[in-house]
Amino acid sequence: MKVAKFGGSSLASPVQVQKVCDIIESDPERRLIVVSAPGKRTPGDTKVTDLLIQCALKHLKNESTDVVLEEIVSRYAAIAAAFSVSESFVETIRKDLLSRMDSSYRNDDFFMDAMKAAGEDNNARLIAEVLSIRGVQSRYINPQDGGMILSDEAGQARILESSYQRLSNLKNCPGISIFPGFFGYTEAGELVTFPRGGSDITGAILAAAVHADEYENFTDVDSVLAANPAIVENPDPITVLTYQEMRELSYAGFSVFHDEALEPVVHRGIPVRVRNTNNPEARGTTIVKERSLDPARPVVGIAAKDGFCSVFISRYLMNRAVGFGRRVLHVFEDAGIPYEHTPSGIDNMSVIIRDAYLPIEKEQLIIDNLKKSVNADKVTIERDIALVMVVGEGMQHAIGLTGRAGSALGRARVNIEMINQGSSEVSMMFGVKADEMDDAVQSLYDEFFPATS
Ligand code: ASP
Repeated sequence: MKVAKFGGSSLASPVQVQKVCDIIESDPERRLIVVSAPGKRTPGDTKVTDLLIQCALKHLKNESTDVVLEEIVSRYAAIAAAFSVSESFVETIRKDLLSRMDSSYRNDDFFMDAMKAAGEDNNARLIAEVLSIRGVQSRYINPQDGGMILSDEAGQARILESSYQRLSNLKNCPGISIFPGFFGYTEAGELVTFPRGGSDITGAILAAAVHADEYENFTDVDSVLAANPAIVENPDPITVLTYQEMRELSYAGFSVFHDEALEPVVHRGIPVRVRNTNNPEARGTTIVKERSLDPARPVVGIAAKDGFCSVFISRYLMNRAVGFGRRVLHVFEDAGIPYEHTPSGIDNMSVIIRDAYLPIEKEQLIIDNLKKSVNADKVTIERDIALVMVVGEGMQHAIGLTGRAGSALGRARVNIEMINQGSSEVSMMFGVKADEMDDAVQSLYDEFFPATS
């Protein structure tokens, strides 16, 4: 049995829905389907989820919601009309939206979640109806009935471990089950959503619950690419990568999955396949626990992300001072600042932080507290740092890769501010100035993915 999740762009218009139905019907193993809300039809378009947020905000400000409400309904109506779904069905969608606005909630956050979730909820009903009209045995599953019970955190909900047992019954449903992504219910029965992009999480949870043979994630790209195509022209597609590689690449800017999405399938070792709704023949990218390694290709991808800063702390004979690292990190903990990495030398240590967590106003406080708590000789903060990651399981067994990466960056005249090799040896990380990030990615790509003629 496969769990297939279709993202918003795959369900944005009648043409896309037609492709999705064809894909579902072409493989009898695709029995549990997760749908997002209709997404953008063109680059300038607005996702239904964003329209719902606009609608909810207007309602909260007591402004008229008529126009945006009709825009939302019209998105479903266009799909309904193309598949001969009755007008009364579209009317139920309008009524559903109005009743969500009329109901009472614990607070505005829970109201907002109820509105956001209407996007996937109504889409799941509609797709189940479309499939039925096409003669396919299908039914909509309400997440509360299905057992998607989540933590009591509006907009940030997480799955409760106890849900898996109930959700596993979904594998016994006859025909095709259409499950809306992105939301579930608390134990008290209130609707809550995952963070944005959370339909990926729903899909992974269901794949884990029913022990699916594969979790197919249909989107609009043929495969995950070895580098950002906005930086590198025509990067190589990746056919297979491990969970760990995917995690490292996502950390540094690959936006294939929501951060938390893979967790449920990782623990159960379920393969994930990223596929293209617009080109279902393409092989896609498979993400697995282990893969065979090609010694000629130790690196699988290169990712980069800016928005970091580096706090440099030095003190003569730091290596002999017991508790130095702990006290440094305590300063950040006290200020409520999470840290990312702590590369260190003999007499110095840097703490890499996301810019967003260290606003300029907090700088002086951090500098003063560090000086006090570890008696630092020098504390400096450097802004506009980008992290460039070279990722690949094959790097554990290859010699000389750091040298090759360093030389490549040197040839491109990129100054390395920091190097960090994770203990797992699945990645090498370089801190560079943000304005040198693109050159760094290009040079590393050229080094590790030489053109084959
Ligand atoms: N529709 C939701 C969003 O736009 C969830 C999703 O598509 O995964 O964030």
